[in-house]
Amino acid sequence: MNTFYHSTRSNEQLVTSKQAILTGIAPDGGLYVCDDITSHQLDLNTICNQTFMETSRLVLSTLLDDYTSEEIAACVEEAYGSSFDTPAITPVTPLGNDWLLELYHGPTCAFKDVALQMLPRLMSKAHAQSDQNIMIVTATSGDTGKAALAGFAGVPGTGICVFYPEGKVSDVQRLQMVTQTGSNVEVCAVSGNFDDVQTEVKHIFADKNLAGRLHTSNIALSSANSINIGRLVPQVVYYFDAYAQLVRSGTLKKGESVEFCVPTGNFGDVLAGYYAKLMGLPVARLVVASNSNDVLCDFIESGVYDRRRPFYTTISPSMDILVSSNLERLLYLLSDGDCELIASLMKQLSEEGHYTVPRALHERIRETFSYGHATDEETSKAIHTTWEQNHVLIDTHTAVAKHVLAQQQPSDAAARVCLSTASPFKFPADVLAALGEDITGLDGFTCMDRLSELTGAQAPRQLSELRDAEVIRNASCDVSGMSEIVENACMRCLA
Ligand SMILES: *Cc1c(COP(=O)(O)O)cnc(C)c1O
Repeated sequence: MNTFYHSTRSNEQLVTSKQAILTGIAPDGGLYVCDDITSHQLDLNTICNQTFMETSRLVLSTLLDDYTSEEIAACVEEAYGSSFDTPAITPVTPLGNDWLLELYHGPTCAFKDVALQMLPRLMSKAHAQSDQNIMIVTATSGDTGKAALAGFAGVPGTGICVFYPEGKVSDVQRLQMVTQTGSNVEVCAVSGNFDDVQTEVKHIFADKNLAGRLHTSNIALSSANSINIGRLVPQVVYYFDAYAQLVRSGTLKKGESVEFCVPTGNFGDVLAGYYAKLMGLPVARLVVASNSNDVLCDFIESGVYDRRRPFYTTISPSMDILVSSNLERLLYLLSDGDCELIASLMKQLSEEGHYTVPRALHERIRETFSYGHATDEETSKAIHTTWEQNHVLIDTHTAVAKHVLAQQQPSDAAARVCLSTASPFKFPADVLAALGEDITGLDGFTCMDRLSELTGAQAPRQLSELRDAEVIRNASCDVSGMSEIVENACMRCLA
């Protein structure tokens, strides 16, 4: 039986998972969803006896069932076979009385690698039947750009073009991108801020003349951001795998429930946890952890989503977001697939900047989701105390979740797991400052060295090596030049 996908805003047009992955976003602006997730119950006995890669094959072939098992097996091997620095891929380690799910062992040291190592392979297999090549165009405020570059570099039939706001990403993040090798890669600094860059990327996607010219060369543009189901589905895997690790270590008895606390921005990561729950994982509660941009906390509390509020730049920048796209999928699932409701809520959000969900829907959200937020000061303090008390070094995003987890009321869960989304060495200055060091005038690499000296932990090689890596991508443009950069990259890489 094939699982079909359709837009959250209309169920008239059904597509296969391959089509949904190639298209990214539905033509009406909705996100692709499937309706029968709860009919796919995974067997816990099986899960608990499997490796990460075996569970990955099971989850992917269940939700993306128009891929053959050979295709899925090849994707899993290419994505995880050698690119993570630990055989467990996403190990669970102790954090006091709780647990840390370490999602940062991939090539760019952020949790986005788990999905962005997989998505390019899924896209590549999906378009293998057609002769159309795909150019991924991405605006990044830091983490996504490098993870997408690392995922798509060298993948046949695809190219990747990343734009970042000049002077607005950290030293380490910029070096990660401008040293990226590969013949299908373009990286360009843009004078402007992230919103300017993001807005122009949307214009480029909507440019029919450009699309027409590219079409004659058999090239289509697509997106690698977290609205793509090809990014969501791979994230379901580590929730099951974390449970299996806790059962094997004797922490949990099979069937006991678990609680996850997730540092949240676009709501992709925590939504994957909800998918796992729908597929049979005993999840007592999912905790949404926000920084000062706590629009989701207010929403879960009140049922009112209101993005008309100040935007804060924080020390957990990957969570600085006011419109969490993937929330639309949760609303769809919890309204029992009421496309009309979703379409009207989303219209209201874009036209008026706010919406209120019906009371029954709000109650259902509160049944599963809890929330909390951390200020920058609380985040720093969480890094400090976690190091002092547990000798575990965590990054700024993980620290938001750590702080929030500590504030939660008790639940039925037999174990609590905090998702750790980035290596502390990816944000060395803020982590070092949190440990009480003076960072005035220090560059990122000096902070990395100090952090190593202080804690005895080694910086991941892929970060420390950047110091000597050759800068090979020094293109720059202003916003009006981005479209031409994309077209030239298409011709150079794919035509
Ligand atoms: C992207 C990101 C997040 C937020 O994940 P969402 O799926 O957008 O909620 C949290 N931490 C880090 C380090 C990230 O890069």
